Amino acid sequence: MNRKDFIILDQKIYDRPLVYFDNAATTQKPEIVINAMSDYYRTINSNIHRGVHYLSQRATDQFEIARQRVRAFINAANNHEIIFTRGTTEAINLVASSFGKAFLCAGDEVIITEMEHHANIVPWQMICEERGAKVKALSFDSRGVLEAEKLESLITEKTKIVSIAHISNALGTINPIKQIIEIAHRHDIPVMVDGAQAISHAKVDVQELDCDFYCFSGHKMYGPMGIGVLYGKEKWLDKMPPYQGGGEMIKKVTIEKTTYADLPFKFEAGTPAVGDAIGLEKAIEYMENIGIEKIANHEEELLQYGVAKMQELGGIDFVGTAPDKTAIISFNFKGIHPYDAGVIIDRMGVAVRTGHHCAQPVMDHFGIPGTIRASFALYNEKWEIDMLIEALKKVKMMFG
Ligand code: PLP
Repeated sequence: MNRKDFIILDQKIYDRPLVYFDNAATTQKPEIVINAMSDYYRTINSNIHRGVHYLSQRATDQFEIARQRVRAFINAANNHEIIFTRGTTEAINLVASSFGKAFLCAGDEVIITEMEHHANIVPWQMICEERGAKVKALSFDSRGVLEAEKLESLITEKTKIVSIAHISNALGTINPIKQIIEIAHRHDIPVMVDGAQAISHAKVDVQELDCDFYCFSGHKMYGPMGIGVLYGKEKWLDKMPPYQGGGEMIKKVTIEKTTYADLPFKFEAGTPAVGDAIGLEKAIEYMENIGIEKIANHEEELLQYGVAKMQELGGIDFVGTAPDKTAIISFNFKGIHPYDAGVIIDRMGVAVRTGHHCAQPVMDHFGIPGTIRASFALYNEKWEIDMLIEALKKVKMMFG
């Protein structure tokens, strides 16, 4: 589907057509995104918000149009609840640091899950250490299904926030975030959702979910690296101190004291990634033109096809077999280190990721060093899975 829009895929590596299955790490960018960014630098590049000159005003308009597009895409109530960040990691660091300073005290607790990406573990550990608070984690079962029913018993009067991945990057599990949010809200606890793996595979409606924070990265949704989004409910963002200080985020500065700008600028210190925001806007337009549901159905078909072919091949341990999962296949060959397998798969022209996928607690849970991960995107096709299977046969032959 739409493979031709992604010029990078039209190349041979090791004399074989490139098969790109590392989409959970980053997706490729369609021409419309690359062109929008180069057009920006060719025609209107300028610093924004501060200038009265023509280019600055055009660049500012485009940047704010991008914010508006993001707002509509996730159905946030207000443009000022959309904060541009460098990516998911920065968004979570922003909330951990800023929410933490405003609301976390000694003895308080933050609940995450055992299947988080390190980006949704380490920032919480850092702020908890600083504030004398504690991180607790919700467990998952042998299939990689979150034990959501245990959340209630983890919550205490000390719990201040729950932060959870919408979709696990290591397992592919789609978490029941609506249920998690409902449980947390019954106890007046806000919920942050790490949407890095969900945003390009599922329709996200932050008002319908009623999440308090939601974040994602542009580069995992056919947009550029260096731009991401933090959605936050105004009622929380208003009460949180700025994350960074500098230009753009102020109302008035004297040597003695600074008053801060209104949302969203309070959280956007310094020159933002204007060209990247414009690229992200185009990526959203691109996905919307195809239709998120169509993308999800296509990826689901690839997932079913890939799993069936691998089962046929045999000798494979699947890591993450939740009934509700996205187009990520994490697996190991019995008795073969994932890294050794990865080298051979690469030589067959297939890009997969091997390792712990920045989710070491997941690997510890299964007692494995890592997995091989094939993750699919809208431009992948079944013949590419056949090439992966061919590569897997070679791994079996060489190590078998
Ligand atoms: N959260 C999840 C679930 C991820 O998969 C990733 C990246 O793989 C991140 C957070 C971090 O994203 P970024 O490196 O774009 O900030």
